[in-house]
Amino acid sequence: MKVALITGAARGIGAATAAEFAQAGYALALLDLDGDEVRRTGKKLEEIGADVLTLEADLSSLEQIEDAVAQTAERWGRIDALINNAATRELETIREITPVNWQRAVDVNLTAPAFLSKWSAPYMKIHGGVIINITSVEAHIPKGVCAVYAATKAGLLGLTWEMANALAGDNIRVIALSPGAIATDFGADYSGGKDDQPADPTLSQDMRDYSETVIPMQRWGTVDEVARTARWLASDEASYITATEITVDGGLRHTWMTREIKNRIRPGEFE
Ligand code: NAD
Repeated sequence: MKVALITGAARGIGAATAAEFAQAGYALALLDLDGDEVRRTGKKLEEIGADVLTLEADLSSLEQIEDAVAQTAERWGRIDALINNAATRELETIREITPVNWQRAVDVNLTAPAFLSKWSAPYMKIHGGVIINITSVEAHIPKGVCAVYAATKAGLLGLTWEMANALAGDNIRVIALSPGAIATDFGADYSGGKDDQPADPTLSQDMRDYSETVIPMQRWGTVDEVARTARWLASDEASYITATEITVDGGLRHTWMTREIKNRIRPGEFE
């Protein structure tokens, strides 16, 4: 039986990925900061026959990360897929960054994937394995309002290339999977006011409406569309894929113009 260790597995893309890997027959180590929710997610997957270990852990703690890998290895003796999915996103510009928020994001988004990979790799060495780092198109097309998020996602791409080179000899593939705009709480929530600034109740919807005029496929993606890609990348069908980035973004990475403007340039073509 193959074993997948998935971070941020309580909800969103992580929970959908857990369900996909369960269907593919993997045993699952599901890690999340939100213990109650990850246990609920784990229970649902057990009900459909999955072998599940839930790990309540904070990725900003190296001790907790090391312990999570140890518990996974103790239970099954192997790790075949590591999905570095969890992340934190601060809506802070470069003018607003604070040392505490910056450090926490670096710890969770970049340091945790590095050490999870370091400690998981020995358990992949015998049969080979795959590490999938969930990055973001924001590594390439930042909005200017999430400084540390964009920086850590770009850093995670660099770490992907580095690890892919270092671990290929052990038959461990390392791939960056970059979602575009995906309908989750994380992806859709721009409503919160900051400090003394009042919350803007229509901002999240306006943001969604606007982005749908830019995304060539004209819609947000679903968690299942990302999860299915992760499952395929981990499978033998993707056996020669490593050291690369796969985007699941409806074309967002390579565009920037709204449909309205395109339509003014070529009337009738983009209605
Ligand atoms: P989500 O908020 O729905 O889920 C993230 C999970 O990670 C949560 O369950 C949360 O509890 C957990 N988590 C957060 N900090 C943690 C920590 N310190 N320790 C352990 N667990 C922690 O988010 P999502 O939209 O499913 O995003 C998953 C990944 O996809 C992230 O890496 C995100 O950057 C990336 N991504 C998402 C989008 C999008 O539009 N949703 C776009 C690009 C990239």
